[in-house]
Amino acid sequence: MHHFETIDGVLHCEGISVPDIAREVGTPFYLYSAATLRHHFQVFDQAFSDLPHITAFAVKACSNLAVLSLLGREGAGADIVSGGELFRALKAGIPAGRIVFAGVGKTGHEIGEALDAGILLFSVESEAELELINQVAGERGAVAPVALRVNPDVDPKTHPYIATGLSESKFGIPTRKAVEAFKQANALPHIRVVGMHQHIGSQITEVAPFVEAVQHAADMVNTLRAAGLTIDYLDIGGGVGIPYHADTAEKPPGPGVMAEAVKPLLKALNVTVITEPGRGIAGNAGIFVTEVLRLKQSGGEKTFVIVDGAMNDLLRPSLYNAHHDVQPVVKPAASTRKVLADVVGPICESGDFLAKNRTLECPAPGDLLAVMSAGAYGFTMASNYNSRPRVAEVLVDGDRFHVVRQRENYDDLIRREEIPWA
Ligand SMILES: *Cc1c(COP(=O)(O)O)cnc(C)c1O
Repeated sequence: MHHFETIDGVLHCEGISVPDIAREVGTPFYLYSAATLRHHFQVFDQAFSDLPHITAFAVKACSNLAVLSLLGREGAGADIVSGGELFRALKAGIPAGRIVFAGVGKTGHEIGEALDAGILLFSVESEAELELINQVAGERGAVAPVALRVNPDVDPKTHPYIATGLSESKFGIPTRKAVEAFKQANALPHIRVVGMHQHIGSQITEVAPFVEAVQHAADMVNTLRAAGLTIDYLDIGGGVGIPYHADTAEKPPGPGVMAEAVKPLLKALNVTVITEPGRGIAGNAGIFVTEVLRLKQSGGEKTFVIVDGAMNDLLRPSLYNAHHDVQPVVKPAASTRKVLADVVGPICESGDFLAKNRTLECPAPGDLLAVMSAGAYGFTMASNYNSRPRVAEVLVDGDRFHVVRQRENYDDLIRREEIPWA
């Protein structure tokens, strides 16, 4: 559910008309709904309310400070994958004690920063990383709390780029090596094993892989405890899928359904459960608003709707062939003819599209289009490709909107560059 609604033919975010915002901030821009973010966070958090738990928002999904601050105030922790995300989470006021740090390539520097901040735990992905954490903690006379990430070899049945729990993926420690790895970890003087982590992938739309993975984790926790290890935290990752098609019956099981399916397994374990939802909280809480520049006819039947937003602003269609619904911000007249269209940006790449082969009411130059479900992995994947300044991010909260990231200007593009002979 979300708070983007067409009222009298005009798309609104909560109480505010999208064209009103566009008039003030220009296009393109990302638009987030505070009410939707809060609601989604609460649904995830409530789903585990009868267990000790931490709902750690996956910062990489949507890392704007205002969004992180809003979620932090609701009680969210943070699942981070870099020193930059640690910096953001702390700046946004998320307590270090609710921050978990994952990722296969943590540097010594990042590990030091996280130790100094006093995060809840490191989710460790290899023996070599353990050695490094042990060393960095030793230099500080500290002991690092860690959870080992176990790769359960479960197929999440999602896009291969976002499947992370298969044995051929780069993530986690293989199950058959896990007990040995946990024991080795615990033997290191500056490491304290406190938990276990897994995350099998993203945009998961079936319950079965989740249950299989958590069953696997539960068995592993019991095995580890039998081997004398302390497992206080079980981090079951993120990955709950969202509906990207509004007009179909597509209804992935929400966090409530997923939680009910795995809670019996978790309750028996007597652990603090950590979840790491990203897309499930932010995905449908944001849209991308772009203006139609002009139309162009292809050699064939197709119309190219050329818009001012592009793959550098929203990469998911180009990267994953991902589907985002595209809808006119102002409902066209009933007489408007329909066209078969690709919605494309100005970038010099054939892969630069926001939508392909859509039947749309033929827009006119100056019309606004809303690219739906763009709140997660939208702005965070934006780049300056083709020297395009990154767009503004706007947050609506009730009857007010706030520019929570200003549009970049040309000076921003070259800010850190230098001509050596000038
Ligand atoms: C990306 C990621 C997540 C978030 O996944 P979503 O599909 O956005 O919920 C959670 N945990 C880890 C370790 C991740 O890498």
